[in-house]
Amino acid sequence: MKYISTRGKSPVQSFSQVLLSGLGEDGGLMLPQTLPKITAAELSAWRALPYHALAHAVLSKFVATDDIDSATLAALTAASYTQEIFGTAEITPLRAIDAYASGMHIQALSNGPTLAFKDMAMQLLGRLFEFELGRRNATLNVLGATSGDTGSAAEYAMRGRKGVNVFMLSPAGRMSAFQRAQMYSLQDANIHNIAVDGVFDDCQDIVKAVSNDLEFKREHNIGTVNSINWGRISAQIVYYVRGYLAATTSNAQKVSFAVPSGNFGNILAGHIAREMGVPIDTLVLATNENNVLAEFFNSGVYRPRPSKETFATSSPSMDISKASNFERFVFHLFNADAERVAAMWREVDQGRSFDVSLTPEFKGLRERFGIVAGTSTHAHRLATIREVHEKTGGLIDTHTADAVHVARALVKPGTPMIALETALPVKFAETVKEATGIDPPLTAEQHAMMALPLRVVQISPDVERVKAIIANH
Ligand SMILES: *Cc1c(COP(=O)(O)O)cnc(C)c1O
Repeated sequence: MKYISTRGKSPVQSFSQVLLSGLGEDGGLMLPQTLPKITAAELSAWRALPYHALAHAVLSKFVATDDIDSATLAALTAASYTQEIFGTAEITPLRAIDAYASGMHIQALSNGPTLAFKDMAMQLLGRLFEFELGRRNATLNVLGATSGDTGSAAEYAMRGRKGVNVFMLSPAGRMSAFQRAQMYSLQDANIHNIAVDGVFDDCQDIVKAVSNDLEFKREHNIGTVNSINWGRISAQIVYYVRGYLAATTSNAQKVSFAVPSGNFGNILAGHIAREMGVPIDTLVLATNENNVLAEFFNSGVYRPRPSKETFATSSPSMDISKASNFERFVFHLFNADAERVAAMWREVDQGRSFDVSLTPEFKGLRERFGIVAGTSTHAHRLATIREVHEKTGGLIDTHTADAVHVARALVKPGTPMIALETALPVKFAETVKEATGIDPPLTAEQHAMMALPLRVVQISPDVERVKAIIANH
């Protein structure tokens, strides 16, 4: 299994190389040269597997055995997906919310250490990094940008690990109180929090700029853990397979997924699962008011927006107006035409948009890839959280509510609709309380965390300043 760049001008790489390097040398994103397939016989055999063994089976399709041997991969997945870390033996349990909408389910992806779905991939990534760095006798400076949840998931996965330092950029004042406390209260010496005066996209642009400085990147051994990291995407494919198997008893059945989306990382994994042969009917892409992705899927125009047009919303982990992972999907949409993708992203990188509305590829998109997109607003979020609570007695978080809201109109009789729960309500307690009057209770441990001193430096959006902070450590 080899990886190629969406822009066609990087040497091919192995899984472990892609894992540590992030972006291709040409600024593109790395993707498998050909997508592996999942056969019906495999799907049937996988029905009986525990989550960690399913993860091993799926990931084995993306990792050559002469790159990481199968026994090592099995040990790393077994250590990552445990009841201790994820709270239940099922790891991502499915629950029906028929009383809210017939056929609607919620798949819990947020029972890991930081209460958001980012843990699903990051727990494995931390172990993969430690393994890789150990056998290369190397160290890695992980540089990341977060809208809130990636950062804490990365920090909790990497804290105290040998050979890894984490430098995490976050948008100052744009995260919930719980998110801030969760990240900035970590006291581990290998964790560095940097709050940037700006929005998530400013943070992401700094990461890209540092990663594109090949000399600095090599000298300081910079790696990334953003959703552009292929290791994360591959680990996320697993829960789509699990969700499908949990909602069905035969491979003749189909399911749909509803995915709260910002950077297009989560739903990209669903797209790849579908391309690999998992019987997925529709992939529902839900955005919040920052609806650049919904706009594309409904119009064929991709119009990333500058930071001043990026709203601060009550589903802040999706306050993204330039979706890093989207380039991978466009590469598939245009049948691996790297030159065309490179030309489109020359426009995007200049702050411009592109319009593919008249192409046959865009016209055939919905039929070929099953993606349907919609937007949810603060009012929808509140109404959905309230109604789900009234009808089922359970609480959902704001991002999950965006998915549930958009999906509700798209449920087809006989096809389970699985909304991915990307965070727990306690992480976005302010809005959950606004919707229901209920303050999601904190555990004693979470209560103590909220009172800890914060360890963070605040800077203006300045690439050189970030390089200096990395060089000084
Ligand atoms: C990261 C995140 C999202 C968006 O996922 P993408 O992969 O960026 O599309 C949605 N909800 C929550 C809670 C998140 O943390």
